[in-house]
Amino acid sequence: MSTSRGSNVRKRPQKHQNRTAFKNDLHDTSHKTKFLNSLEVTGVCARCKDIIEWKIKYKKYKPLTAPRKCVTCEQKTVKYAYHLMCTQCAKDKQICAKCCKPVESTVADVVEDSQNADLKEMLKDLPERKRRTILRHINKQEDGQQKVTPEIMAKLEKMLSETGVDDDFNFSDEDDDFPESDDQSI
Ligand SMILES: [Zn+2]
Ligand SMILES: [Zn+2]
Repeated sequence: MSTSRGSNVRKRPQKHQNRTAFKNDLHDTSHKTKFLNSLEVTGVCARCKDIIEWKIKYKKYKPLTAPRKCVTCEQKTVKYAYHLMCTQCAKDKQICAKCCKPVESTVADVVEDSQNADLKEMLKDLPERKRRTILRHINKQEDGQQKVTPEIMAKLEKMLSETGVDDDFNFSDEDDDFPESDDQSI
């Protein structure tokens, strides 16, 4: 890497470097941590899933001690921390149990469904951020159906050819300001 910018270029190697990724069960082998690590986060949108998994990983997840009242059916049926809605209501309305916005399929779902081997290969080579952009296109069909149109394939090809260059797509990337800590009190 070559750079000619200013003097804030590190000249010595980093003194302390983590050799392994952060592990929440390195010093904590409690049942609670084990249980949370095995917990599969479902019924929420991709963004809320990220948030909840982040909380689990960094031990900020506080499980519910008793079921909470669902904002839709008003029964005490909410079993998961940070969810506002019970699993059934979220499923019926096809919205996220946490942020209550429509749930979009994940990249994996769409790729599975489309059975499009080319698409699978192409998405594999894209950085995560661009993959999400493509996914947003796939989810944004006028008829509400999720499908991979020729236009999307063309965009995807363009993206692949530009990988490494900053993308010039006109989509704000709302996924970048994460993590947030707005709902600690729940
Ligand atoms: Zn409910
Ligand atoms: Zn959500």
